[in-house]
Amino acid sequence: MRPTILDQLFAPVTALEGVGPRLAALLKTLLPPSGDIAEPRVRDLLFHLPSGVIDRRQRAEIATAPEGAIVTLTVRIDRHAPPARGAKGAPYRVFADDETGELALVYFRGERQWLEKLLPEGETMLVSGRIEWFNGRPQMVHPDFVCRLAEAETMPLVEPVYPMTAGLSPKVLRKAILSALSRLPELDEWIDQSVVARHKLPPFGEALARLHHPTDPQAAQPESATWRRLAYDEFLAGQLALALSRQRMTKARGRSLVGDGRLPRKIRAALPFSLTEAQKTAIAEIAEDMAAPDRMLRLLQGDVGSGKTMVALFAMAAAAESGAQSALLAPTEILARQHAATLEPLCAAVGLRLALLTGRDSGRARAEKLAALEAGEIDIVVGTHALFQDDVSYRDLALVVVDEQHRFGVHQRLALSRKGRAPDLLVMTATPIPRTLVLAAFGDMEVSRLHGKPPGRKPVTTVAVPDSRIGEIVGRIGAALSNGEKAYWICPLVEESEKSDLTAAENRFADLEGAFGPQVGLVHGRMSGEEKDAAMSAFKAGETRLIVATTVIEVGVDVPDASIIVIEHAERFGLAQLHQLRGRVGRGEKASSCVLLYRTPLGEVAKARIAVMRETEDGFRIAEEDLKLRGEGDLLGTKQSGIPGFRVARIDHHADLLEIARDDARMVLARDPDLKTPRGEALRTLLYLFGRDEAVRLLRSG
Ligand code: ADP
Ligand code: MG
Repeated sequence: MRPTILDQLFAPVTALEGVGPRLAALLKTLLPPSGDIAEPRVRDLLFHLPSGVIDRRQRAEIATAPEGAIVTLTVRIDRHAPPARGAKGAPYRVFADDETGELALVYFRGERQWLEKLLPEGETMLVSGRIEWFNGRPQMVHPDFVCRLAEAETMPLVEPVYPMTAGLSPKVLRKAILSALSRLPELDEWIDQSVVARHKLPPFGEALARLHHPTDPQAAQPESATWRRLAYDEFLAGQLALALSRQRMTKARGRSLVGDGRLPRKIRAALPFSLTEAQKTAIAEIAEDMAAPDRMLRLLQGDVGSGKTMVALFAMAAAAESGAQSALLAPTEILARQHAATLEPLCAAVGLRLALLTGRDSGRARAEKLAALEAGEIDIVVGTHALFQDDVSYRDLALVVVDEQHRFGVHQRLALSRKGRAPDLLVMTATPIPRTLVLAAFGDMEVSRLHGKPPGRKPVTTVAVPDSRIGEIVGRIGAALSNGEKAYWICPLVEESEKSDLTAAENRFADLEGAFGPQVGLVHGRMSGEEKDAAMSAFKAGETRLIVATTVIEVGVDVPDASIIVIEHAERFGLAQLHQLRGRVGRGEKASSCVLLYRTPLGEVAKARIAVMRETEDGFRIAEEDLKLRGEGDLLGTKQSGIPGFRVARIDHHADLLEIARDDARMVLARDPDLKTPRGEALRTLLYLFGRDEAVRLLRSG
């Protein structure tokens, strides 16, 4: 159960004074969803950290105040100048001066009485806001703050600025956040004292207070000790949750699975190709893990098509050799079927008995499969969630392979693992995840990687061309088309608006259709699924040879004879996306090329991205570079990858804390495996705070 001390923080935001349903709805679009809780909670407001600050500490004088800067001035209020009667839209001006000159404080729709009270003539006051020059005179439109000199300390000199959403006012948001802050209870320290001391971390509550109430702009930087404290908390919660599930997994002793190598030899002979070096290495690493008496916990990474399923087959064959069973768990029915179809002929050739079990199986057929599984008449079962339903039992399940693991929670993995006696676990993912993120997402897993391109892929020549030379590129496309080649032309997202995005693609389509006639097709996100399929099929069949597309083609289209891809406004794409897009070509026999059309002048980051694209096709390298250039936000398929999104930690700034958190988590569990000590209790609170309480349930069911 959640510690009651956190109740206030897990109350819906509407529990805060001044937060009604309308504001709550706005906050819902602004704050990330809290797991299975739909409504934003007080806690979510606390973790909404400033993106920067406004620094009002800069004192200035009227004549020399830098134009456009936010400054704080000491001025004497000289006179009020209400708009002339009937001058519609004219502002109310209040003139003020200091030794160097005169400044107009400008209020649109200003109410006279209110302004006279706010800015009494003759009074010396502090005003803070943005200085602008209008018709050769300095002015400040709607100062952010004004107060009497005597009340100077009421002015927030360093004001946090928050990521916003349309319709929300900064003042209202700030008020809600401060109100949330006032509900923060005193919490016991959960970080090890030595870590606190070594990294000079302030207490949790103080860190939050300092970030939302900064007294110096430094505090609101990700590098600050305050921010690092919170990042560490988030990492620690994550690492502890992972360590807990690992503890559960490895508590039961594994067993040694050693075969005589007969089946792998047979499979190798039956394969129509030879294994790549990377596959051989991965297969050997896995075999060694399986032969060891400890339970295997290994991650196998490699691009789609890099041959992971093939590697898994060797692992499953090794299990079968020791007389045990394997289960291959896929996230969807389609993927399960695809795996079964790939594996079936090889299994048949070497005498491995394979079955497919999904939600579609029912009645007699299902009953027969279950009986065969239980009797040990099936060596390898491929399937979906159906594999770990209650009435499914195995004679001896020794290896669990999970494909696209991120789509399965810890509990599902455990549910399947429980079907066997401490089975070995192999997790496969197609997302190239940089090393730091592997730690964040998976904790201490051993990793095998299938580097390089999938088998059979040809290198792609990548060139970068300024869009002033677009005519030349169109000419070359024309030549390629008459040579019988096929090409993609990608139009980017324009200003994040789907509509203008579409217009750009439609215009480009019109241009190219004008040049090349009916062999040009169009596919975009506004089309229905069927329309998209039709457009892609026409391209695949060669009825169209040049297809203009928005980024919808990023996913899952395979047209092996397409050999050119032009990416317009390449500077607007992230590295991950560029890599994905380029992966559309180079799949067939022909030499392929990728043309990155960019608009000048190129920013530093865009330049670096293009350079990386020209240098390498290695998804892992690109993911690492992407992380360096942009932070974790834009990683290849981060959203789909199930890499936990962090609320407050920023991998690009805080990666160094991850390993410390991992070691800390390990040490805690070594000393206090059930989190029963006072520090253990505090850590349970931490798990709830950061939504990792799934791990607490592991403790209870332990
Ligand atoms: P993944 O699971 O990583 O997406 P698969 O194992 O399904 O990849 O392999 C993709 C395709 O490549 C399959 O058709 C497979 O038969 C083939 N393949 C696997 N390994 C090799 C190899 N070493 N050489 C050539 N083709 C391979
Ligand atoms: Mg696969």
